[in-house]
Formats: sequence, structure tokens, C-alpha cells
Amino acid sequence: MSTEGTNEIQDPRGEFQQERYEKQQQKAPGLQSGMKPVPDSGEQSYHGCNRLRGRKALVTGGDSGIGRAAAIAYAREGADVALNYLPEEQSDAEEVAELIRKEGRKAVLLPGDLSDEVFCKKLVRDALEKLGGLDIMALVAGKQVAVEDIRDITTEQLTKTFEVNVFSLFWIAKEALPHLKPGTSIITCSSIQAYQPGKNLVDYASTKAAIIAFSRSLAKQVAPKGIRVNVVAPGPIWTALQVTGGQLQKDLPEFGRKTPLKRAGQPVELSGLYVFLASQESSFITAEVFGVTGGMHLA
Ligand code: NAD
Ligand code: MG
Repeated sequence: MSTEGTNEIQDPRGEFQQERYEKQQQKAPGLQSGMKPVPDSGEQSYHGCNRLRGRKALVTGGDSGIGRAAAIAYAREGADVALNYLPEEQSDAEEVAELIRKEGRKAVLLPGDLSDEVFCKKLVRDALEKLGGLDIMALVAGKQVAVEDIRDITTEQLTKTFEVNVFSLFWIAKEALPHLKPGTSIITCSSIQAYQPGKNLVDYASTKAAIIAFSRSLAKQVAPKGIRVNVVAPGPIWTALQVTGGQLQKDLPEFGRKTPLKRAGQPVELSGLYVFLASQESSFITAEVFGVTGGMHLA
């Protein structure tokens, strides 16, 4: 896997892992550190240049995968970062915190379960208090469990998936909005699954479509306050989500190979977009959805 700087010109087909992935399984939520190969969230490969100097960011799912890539990039661009994740992911989160502190930025660790409304409210209050405000909310956390037959989706799984992926956005936004100032950027995380849903992800794909409607509606509601809301919709990205039940085991070796670039993406390939949407460079962009799909494109 390439660990070269992302600023060097490279063939996008030849960057990162191109071979088939090994079958592997962890219990959800899993650890990035236990994956083979370990995903690239920009630990060595993302270089910042102060595009977010002095900002304060909350990143959910900030321990691993795409959220980790956003958290590392934000710190390298000069932001202080509060990370949310599940308690089982403490070791991944501590790795990210160390990288943030190495940049001379503040890292605040706020573990807890986003399917709990009371916790979501506390998360916002703690982030506001410990960072001294919030300018960026990258709400990246998500739950994905592949099930071949809709009759096997338990009500427990259905409820949890909606709570984590959709309800937590309402709870966090409701608590945060009275405190957010003009210039704040909220970034939610949908998926290619909202546009081209796979047959094994009926519940997950439904949540990812809901996230788009939520984000666009909220964007219109808060535009008069100078707050922007945008959506990132990734295609197949090599993360812990995929080895903890997000894909069926049998599908893992082929993961990402159907994209026109014929490989899965790495989390660091979303870093630039997360920075752009958080920064002033995207000041006229709100209520939009951005695909990062290796060419699968949104409908
Ligand atoms: P990941 O497993 O590295 O990150 C998901 C994170 O969600 C976990 O680290 C965990 O901290 C968090 N999470 C899950 N349940 C939670 C709960 N109950 N409370 C608090 N946090 C919880 O995987 P990822 O792929 O980086 O996922 C990030 C986002 O990207 C998700 O919203 C996912 O739906 C989305 N996404 C991923 C892909 C992909 O191919 N990896 C594609 C499209 C969308
Ligand atoms: Mg994780």
C-alpha cells in the first residue's frame, strides 16, 4: 500500500491496495488496528496547510475509517478535535488522539453510544465545553449489517441502525444548533447505497437515503443562520465497517472491484473533501451531496 504523500501525482488505479482483500471477521464495532491490511486514514499520507486554523471540530466515528481520516486531516489543518466512538474502540481512538496532539492541537475523547438520546445531548455539551465552541460537526458514525433476507433483519437491528445512522443526527443537531455560530459547517455521511442500494443492505440503505433528506432539509432551515449542511456519500471504502458484518464474508475478496477504478477506496481519499466542506473554500455550497465512489457515481 502506498504511504506516499497524496500531493504527488499518481495513477489513481495504482494507488493503495489493488489486490483482493483477505476474508476476515471482527465482532462489531471492530478495530482498525486489527485489519489486514490496516486502512490508510492519512496517518502518514495526509499533509495539511492550516486551512482550518483555530477551528473546533466534533467528529463522530472519529476512531477509525472515514471519521479517523477527517479527524487527522482537521488536526493537520490546524483544528482542535473532539472524537466520539464506542468504548470498545478506545485503543483506535487513542492512536488518533496521539496524532492530533502531535500537531499541537487539542484532542478530546468522548466515548459513548449514539443510539442513546441522552448520550447524544451530553456529547454535544461536553464537546462545546471542552473545545470552547464548535465550528465543524462531521457526523460520520454509522452502523451497517448485511443480511441476505429481509425476514432475518431483527427489529433490534432495524431500530439500532436507524438510531445510530439517523436519529443521532436529529438529537445532535437539536442540542447543538442554539450554540452554533454563522460559518459553522455540518457534514453528514450517506452512501452510494442511498442511490444504488445493494440487495443485502435494505435497512442500512434506507437510513442512508434518509440522511440525504435530513441534511437537505436542515440545510434550508439553518441557511438563514449562516450554517451550512452537506453530505458525503462514499462508495466502497476499506474500513472496519466492512469486516464487522457490513459485507457478507464471501463478498469481501471482491470488495470494491466493481468500481470503474477496479479497487476499493481508502479513508484518506475522503480527507480532502472533508476539509473542503469544513473550510471557507466551500462557503457557497450547502444542501449538496458529494460522491467519492471510484466512478460508480450518484444517480
Ligand atoms: P468504521 O467502522 O471505521 O467507522 C464507523 C464508526 O461508527 C465506528 O468507528 C464507530 O465508532 C461508530 N459507531 C457505530 N455504532 C456506533 C454507536 N452505537 N455509537 C457511537 N458510534 C458508533 O467504518 P467507516 O466505513 O469509516 O464508516 C464511517 C461512515 O461511512 C459510516 O456512516 C458508513 O455508513 C459510511 N460509509 C462507509 C462506506 C464504506 O465502504 N466503508 C461506504 C459508504 C458510507
Ligand atoms: Mg471504529
